This record gives sequence, structure tokens and C-alpha cells, in this order.
Amino acid sequence: MPDSVSSTPVASDWKKELAASIVSPVALARVRPVDAVALAPVCVRYPMRINSYWLSMMRQPEDPFWRQAVPDALELEDGAQADPLAEEDQSPVPGLIHRYPDRVVFLVSDRCAMYCRHCMRKRRVGRPAAAVREAVAAGIDYIRATPAIEEVILSGGDPLMLDDAVLEEILARLKEIRHVHLLRIHTRMPSSLPRRVTASLAAMLGRFHPLYINIQFNHPAEMTPEAAEACRCLADAGIPLGCQSVLIRGVNDDPGTMAALMRVLLAHRVRPYYLHQMDPVQGTAHLRTPIETGLAILAALRGRIPGIGVPQLMIDLPGGGGKVPLLPESVVSRGPGTWRVRNYNGEVFDYPVSGGPEKGGGS
Ligand SMILES: *Cc1c(COP(=O)(O)O)cnc(C)c1O
Repeated sequence: MPDSVSSTPVASDWKKELAASIVSPVALARVRPVDAVALAPVCVRYPMRINSYWLSMMRQPEDPFWRQAVPDALELEDGAQADPLAEEDQSPVPGLIHRYPDRVVFLVSDRCAMYCRHCMRKRRVGRPAAAVREAVAAGIDYIRATPAIEEVILSGGDPLMLDDAVLEEILARLKEIRHVHLLRIHTRMPSSLPRRVTASLAAMLGRFHPLYINIQFNHPAEMTPEAAEACRCLADAGIPLGCQSVLIRGVNDDPGTMAALMRVLLAHRVRPYYLHQMDPVQGTAHLRTPIETGLAILAALRGRIPGIGVPQLMIDLPGGGGKVPLLPESVVSRGPGTWRVRNYNGEVFDYPVSGGPEKGGGS
């Protein structure tokens, strides 16, 4: 066990770290070299929150922690749409996105321990509180009345911003619904504020199996001793952990960093799940990479790290078309009877595609 994790986290730890968050440019300028005047209008539009844990990791300008948390004036110079995925149009009740037939995304909090600059829900997260409590009640009613829904994904914001008792009540009410077979939580807490993951939280969550948790790590340095402890705690409670990383310019947009990230996740019992091409959301263009970057990274990962460490590269279609995995092109040509296929090393092989004897006696 790492010595640096001296004691088991308790609820008061994370609440203290959260209460000590920096939310104003002036406060940030006191502890880090930033231009408070330039950041002020950005923070009015898109709130900033840097909790004391994340701040302690933010050592110098443009390091991965800095780039994900410190606002940039460029956020205001981006003419893209606020909700390109049409999440609001696909919400039958506020805060519940029903895009696929069998599963819904349920936004149970609009707060996070840290506001990522690359957030895909920048339009709503951290804004003056909508009536989340009433929306949650309406969402549960909708799920209960919609038998096609088999899985509920708690997201936000960050669902772990809720107190254990509130979260437990939501999970219990969902579990009561006969057609809901699977529960999933999407949270960034293991990387953004790892002491949020207390033993009592893990024990409570462990009573709702089958429950899956997808977390978000974007750089290998985020796997600090505290973050590793948070992952261990959840994994030991029997919760399968997946990771949904976001491809971010200047943070992880190179094969070496990405390979290191995937390896460190595997080492902590986290299965890489998705690598997200950043959605064309207003205020994030300066952090977005070309699609080719993701494809090149994926091609570099294949064959060089364990297959269970290779995530799917996903784009989420504008207009609410849903997520689609993209793969680097490996089929060089398709001839009759043979496909030419490129391997992880760039070598080309012929693969017989004729299969077994055909009904019509084809060649
Ligand atoms: C991403 C997403 C899901 C979950 O998709 P999976 O592929 O099952 O992880 C469900 N609903 C919406 C609206 C989503 O954006």
C-alpha cells in the first residue's frame, strides 16, 4: 500500500477540499500566474471551480491539470452551437436524455468538483441552479412509466456531488422499478477529487449491483496515490470500472501520453472504454483535435498495448444521431476471395474471405 495515503478518506475531507475551491479569477491570480482581468468575462459565461486537490496538482502554466481547469479567453471566441448533440430536444422531461431505445442519461446534479474547460455540457453545468430536485422526481416518474428503459446512467454535472444519502435514495428508487436492470454512474471524482470516494460511499454503492461506474482520466499524471486509492476502493466493492477519456489538444493528443494513460488505468483495474473525439460544443474549439489525430493515436495503440487497454474512438453525431466508433483503416483492398489487410506494424497480408462452400457454388 502506498504510504502517501495515510488514512482512509472521510466525508469531511472532500467537503473541506471542495469548500476551499477557487472560483474567482482574482483568487486564482493570488496563487498562480494568470491574468485575472482577461479571465473575468470567461468565468461569467462558463464558471470556474478548482478545488484544493486539483490546484495542488497544477504546478505550471499549460501542464495537463492547468489546461483542463484554467479558463481561456478563447472560450468566448467560438461560434459553435451550445448543444450540438440536441440533448435538450431529446429530453422528454428536463434533465433526462432519452436518445437510445433502451437507456437514458439522467442528469442528477449540475455541479462538479472541478469545471473542465472541455466540458460537453458547458451550456448548463455550474450555472445558477435549475430546479434539479424536482427534475429528478419527474425523471424517475418518466423512467417508471417507460418500460423500454433497461439502463439508467446517472450523470450531470457529477452525480457524486450529491451526498451519500441523496444518491442512495435515487438509486433505491430506480432499483425498485422492475424494468430497470442496470445502473451506471458517470463521474469524474476519482480523478477530480479522489477523497470523495470514501469507504462508506463504496459500501453503499456496492449494495446496488449490477452497478457500473465510468470515470474520466485524461492524463497519466492524474493517477496520483489518492486517485489510485479511490479506484481501489470502488473496484474492491465489486464495481466494474470503465474510463471515458477525452482527447484534448495539448493534454493527451500524442500516442506516448495516451499509451501511458491506458497502461496506468489497466494497472489500477480500470478498463479503457471510450476515447471521445471532443464534441463541437461552443467554447471548446481551442482544445479540440482533428479526427485524424485520434485515428493516428488508435493505430499506434493497437498491438503496442494490451487489447483490453485499447478504447473505442467515438464521435457523437450532431443532431442527436448517437455515438459511432471510428477505426483506423486496416483493409487496403477487397478483391474476390482475398482482402489485403494491414497489421499493427504496417505490414500487408492477404486474408481469404471466401468462407465455406456457398449455396450457389460461387468461387
Ligand atoms: C453516451 C450516451 C449513452 C450511453 O452510451 P453507451 O454507448 O451505452 O455508453 C446513452 N445516452 C446518451 C444520450 C448518450 O449520450
